[in-house]
Amino acid sequence: MSFDTFNLSSELTKALEKNNYKTPTSIQTKVIPLVKTKQDIMAQAKTGSGKTASFVIPILEALKENKSEKKAQKKDKIKVLVLAPTRELTLQIAQTFSTLSKFFSKPLSIVSVIGGEKIGDQLLKIQKGCDIVVATSGRLLDIISKKQIDLGTIEYFVLDEADKMLDLGFVQELDEILKIIPKQRQNLLFSATYSPKVIDIASKITTKAIKVEV
Ligand code: AMP
Repeated sequence: MSFDTFNLSSELTKALEKNNYKTPTSIQTKVIPLVKTKQDIMAQAKTGSGKTASFVIPILEALKENKSEKKAQKKDKIKVLVLAPTRELTLQIAQTFSTLSKFFSKPLSIVSVIGGEKIGDQLLKIQKGCDIVVATSGRLLDIISKKQIDLGTIEYFVLDEADKMLDLGFVQELDEILKIIPKQRQNLLFSATYSPKVIDIASKITTKAIKVEV
C-alpha cells in the first residue's frame, strides 16, 4: 500500500516524500480514511506506531482545502485543538503539523501552548490568529482564564495519549476544557491502553467513536 491510496494533495505528498514516509503504517491505513469521512475515532496506538501522522495528515488536508477556498481573511480562527500530556509530545505534534504542511501555498499557523516557556510569546501568536493549537492542559487553562483565546471555532478536537493524561491527573483540567469547546466537532482520541478510566473519559468526549486497533 502507498499514500497514493488516500488521494492526498501534491503539496502534502511532496512533504511525505521529503520526510521519507513511503508506506503508511497500520494505524495510518485505518485512521486516515475515517478522519476524512468525518468520523469520531478512538484508537489504541502506542508511540512509534505513526499515530501522530495518522491525525495530522487528514487534518492538514482538510484545512488546506478550506484555506484555499477562502479569500483573504483578516485573522485565522482556531480550527484544531490538540491536547497532549507533556511538553515534549506537544512540541513533537506541532513539529509534525509544521513539517508536513511545509509546501502549502498558504502556510498554516501552528502554536504550541506549553508551560515552562514565556506565556507572552504564546499569547502574541494566538492574538495574531492561528489555525492549530497544540497544548498541555495547564497552560491552556491559564490562557483561557485570561480570556486570551477563542476556542469557539474548533472543528477538530484531538486527545493524544489519553491514558497518560489520566495517569498525570489531568482529568479535571480536561473537563474544564471540554466545557468551553463547541459540542459540534470531530473527536479523535488516542490511547496506548483502554482502561475503564480511559473509556469513561472517552464517553464524556464522544459517544459515537469508531474503535480502531492495530
Ligand atoms: P509517532 O508514533 O507518531 O510518534 O511516530 C514515530 C516516528 O515515525 C516519527 O519519527 C515519524 O516521523 C515516523 N513516521 C510516522 N509515519 C511514518 C511513515 N508512514 N513512514 C515513515 N516514517 C513514519
